[in-house]
Amino acid sequence: MPQLLEGKTALILGVANKWSLAYAIAQAFRREGASLLLTYQGERLRQTAEGLGADAGATNVFECDVTNDDHLNGLREHGKLDAVVHSVAFANREDLSRPFVETSRAGYLLAQEVSAYSMVAVARATAAMMSGGGSIMTLTYLGAERVVPNYNVMGAAKASLEACVRYLASDLGPSNIRVNAISAGPIKTASARGIKDFSTVLEKVAVRAPLRRNCDPAEVADTAVFLASDLGRGVTGNVIFVDAGFQIMGL
Ligand code: NAP
Repeated sequence: MPQLLEGKTALILGVANKWSLAYAIAQAFRREGASLLLTYQGERLRQTAEGLGADAGATNVFECDVTNDDHLNGLREHGKLDAVVHSVAFANREDLSRPFVETSRAGYLLAQEVSAYSMVAVARATAAMMSGGGSIMTLTYLGAERVVPNYNVMGAAKASLEACVRYLASDLGPSNIRVNAISAGPIKTASARGIKDFSTVLEKVAVRAPLRRNCDPAEVADTAVFLASDLGRGVTGNVIFVDAGFQIMGL
């Protein structure tokens, strides 16, 4: 069977551990024949990221803190790219447990910087590396458009991120660079565990979603393959739900 990403090079940001959605995407991209560059946030994660990168056959694993302009500018040294996966988000733990109305200015701005503005900065740095066109994608969540208990400041950041996707798609479309978001259903990862009562969300989705289950990282990763591949060539500016259908339900 032909590999969907043969001959393509992909940069994947946000590998923290083997449960990271970024890691599932790296494995799927590798399966489909892509060359991989992986990034991690800080020295603390270097060893883990290098080990996972070796397992996924990455040609390079390096640090990229998306709040650091030197790191972002350094991305350009890594040659030509065909696909970029932005799988990065952060908010203070207390902002994911107390009432949203209590969100501080600093907490709000931090979540916006790491989780939304970084998509703009990453797109700017990497679009310059996509001379033949390409596909940039990010990960979002239903909490951008509906109230999900405790998602709070991250909901506001994801709403901003989804708007960024549309504006970036409009700017970069003439260069044949597509920009999309995958809205994943809840999945147990390190970030998700920071949200108070996250296990209740998992339980409710499994009962109410049309497929009567939660989605898994491999399903998210296969949608990322589609978006990175030529099969997704007509798709840009979209938010694609991979959530066992939960987002269509009213009650
Ligand atoms: P994850 O494994 O914790 O991944 C989040 C990544 O963001 C980590 O690698 C984290 O690094 C990184 N990050 C945080 N601040 C950063 C910075 N300043 N610079 C660079 N990287 C930074 O959790 P995940 O669930 O796979 O999250 C990936 C994406 O999927 C996020 O955008 C998340 O919102 C989204 N998403 C997740 C779910 C879910 O239920 N899991 C659902 C929908 C969407 P550190 O570990 O060092 O902080």
